Amino acid sequence: MTTQRTRIYFHGYELITGKISESYDGRAYHWFAKRIETRGHPSEESAQAALREKVLEDVARNQATYIQKISEKHQERMRNGNKPYNGWTVSDFFARESHCFECKRPVSNLYDIVCGSCKWIICNNCAACGCFYNGL
Ligand SMILES: [Zn+2]
Ligand SMILES: [Zn+2]
Repeated sequence: MTTQRTRIYFHGYELITGKISESYDGRAYHWFAKRIETRGHPSEESAQAALREKVLEDVARNQATYIQKISEKHQERMRNGNKPYNGWTVSDFFARESHCFECKRPVSNLYDIVCGSCKWIICNNCAACGCFYNGL
């Protein structure tokens, strides 16, 4: 049996949908969140729409916790990389970068915070910021 799976990103979550017998199921993952599932949809689009709704509910409930987890991961990376750590601030503008230079995942203005040292957005997935960018 072959199952075709589709993967998209939504606010940093990986949404995976696939057809199981006659209906579509889906799961949403993020390293800082509990796994989210939905089942029994007539189409892939409706499974994705249900997952997006559940992700938005999850973020609305846990945004402060998720921001805390991202900032802790960032602080850990800065310490391990011997970078000067100057805390973080909440981003007051829409993300200018659409993808993280390191892990390539899309950034999200829901919880992308700004590094106090380089003023770049901290990736919600891998916690990279401009302090780790060597591309110039
Ligand atoms: Zn990243
Ligand atoms: Zn930085």
